[in-house]
Amino acid sequence: MSSYAPPVQRLVTELSKLPGIGTRTAQRLAFHILRASDEDALGLAESIREVKERIGLCEVCYNLTDEPRCRICQDSRRDHGLICVVEEPGDVIPMERTHEYSGVYHVLGGALSPIDGIDPEDLKIAELYARIASETPPVREIVLATNPTTTGEATALHIAHELRSRAPELTVTRLASGLPVGSDLEYADEVTLGKAFAGRRSL
Ligand SMILES: [Zn+2]
Repeated sequence: MSSYAPPVQRLVTELSKLPGIGTRTAQRLAFHILRASDEDALGLAESIREVKERIGLCEVCYNLTDEPRCRICQDSRRDHGLICVVEEPGDVIPMERTHEYSGVYHVLGGALSPIDGIDPEDLKIAELYARIASETPPVREIVLATNPTTTGEATALHIAHELRSRAPELTVTRLASGLPVGSDLEYADEVTLGKAFAGRRSL
């Protein structure tokens, strides 16, 4: 049983739902928020409300955006014939930081993991095939930049296999090894990721 006033307990409960935040950290954050100025505390609350109200998925690539199409998809200077397939919106940022990449993206929304019940239809995979089939001028290359983890590799192989029959003329590549195995793209530094992109190999 909690001895906090119900509003404080509610804040602790909500904060403890965040990833990596246990009860003790949630309590510490709650007390920090209580001590903060109204401006800072309400700024936090308002920023959460704003992202939930204004941010959605790009209708082309499924990256996060506050418009129907994200800025990358809207940019005509980018190479729309080159699509980099990543697991999460957070994976776009490190690829952009490399400054090696001038194509566009496709965000799957996760990786295949039958054991967790994540099948192809739970990801934006059919949407990728539809996009490849309808893009003009046609897409030349798909770079599979899913994470170098078991599920990320399985996802890359699944898509590469499907694309061989659906679009045989398409070049399908995978980021070169050199990325730390088992880690997320999100944590790769831009030099390593830039090299992995430059050294991508055909699948
Ligand atoms: Zn987009």
